[in-house]
Amino acid sequence: MASLYNPLPSTSIPDPVVLQTVKDFTASSEEGATRAAFATGNSCPQKAVDWAMQHNEDANFNDPIEIADFEIAEGAPPLFSFGVIADIQYADLDDGKSFGGSTRYFRRALEITQHAVDAWDQTDIRFIAQLGDLIDGRNKDAGLSDSSLNAVQSTIGKCQCKTVYSMVGNHELYNHSYSQLVAHQLVPEAKGYYSAEIAQGWRLIVLNGFDISTIAWGPMHPSTKAAWKYLDAHNTNDCRVTDGSVDWTKGLTGLERRWVPFNGAVGPEQLQWLDSELQAATELSQRVLVSCHVPIQPGSCTSSCLLWNFEEVLAILHQHGNVAAYLAGHDHNGGYARDETGVHHITFKSPLEAPPPSTCFATVDVHPSCLLIHGAGTQNSFTLPLN
Ligand SMILES: [Zn+2]
Repeated sequence: MASLYNPLPSTSIPDPVVLQTVKDFTASSEEGATRAAFATGNSCPQKAVDWAMQHNEDANFNDPIEIADFEIAEGAPPLFSFGVIADIQYADLDDGKSFGGSTRYFRRALEITQHAVDAWDQTDIRFIAQLGDLIDGRNKDAGLSDSSLNAVQSTIGKCQCKTVYSMVGNHELYNHSYSQLVAHQLVPEAKGYYSAEIAQGWRLIVLNGFDISTIAWGPMHPSTKAAWKYLDAHNTNDCRVTDGSVDWTKGLTGLERRWVPFNGAVGPEQLQWLDSELQAATELSQRVLVSCHVPIQPGSCTSSCLLWNFEEVLAILHQHGNVAAYLAGHDHNGGYARDETGVHHITFKSPLEAPPPSTCFATVDVHPSCLLIHGAGTQNSFTLPLN
């Protein structure tokens, strides 16, 4: 693997049965057994044991694991690769603080976007998945909504790869309406959801997590009214105060913490569309990546970042069995969880909070048997076996 990704040690989890079998049969160290599990797809104890026997005298066998060490499928090239960046939240403003107190490097986020473009230009990516929150809400009051959006779009636009799939985040909606975002060619549809064939046998489905929300459609829209009804039923804090003086999550515990105005729901029409897209993919024997700004799997993010009706979306994904992974942003600390049906849920970290001189983006290699997520800088790397 190319060293330009500067991968961190993988945080993906070796299959426990594979790991234990390798340790029992070969007396390998934890690192060696993990290496054997990942080098053979993390799914077959016999293959992993054979690999450990062949490689246990390699100089790096007992070293800590790095993605760059793996030779997937005997070094076979991926089916295709793509770039991922989430929550850039650029603004031409001095550094600030999040509600939780972490530093936000508003200008540097654009430099990191340039790092990503430079790295992707040295690879053969097929598309860029921009997971939303391209610009920060603070642009609005500073009168920078359009100039900031143009700046980030033009930085990403300099990439040799010209295919960009963008999700809409809450921060875009603090600055622009959907029709303005369509006019900026950020999303192809005013509805904010769409799908594309990304490679032979693979489909990307992009969801709009703010279909029903208080921030997308203006105060008189039925979806906005429905969203306030949901929020008022689940959250007794004054969520109409938006100056940061009210803690919207006060008194909410566990999964209840998602009932806040910076989240939303996927509406009934979009749920039906998702179901039909997955059905169409099944009929064409396509595997599917689903992507949305907002995560849906508890454990893959902090619960205050979950989609309001995450259970409904998960149920539809699980009915079809052809979803390989769900890619999201929104939670700046990132996260990962694998659900009970084997779908990988990856929440990508935000460049906005990557402390200098670090960077933060990812390149994903899609292999028949696994996804390799090469994280750069603060973004973790993962080796994720596919069902
Ligand atoms: Zn967000």
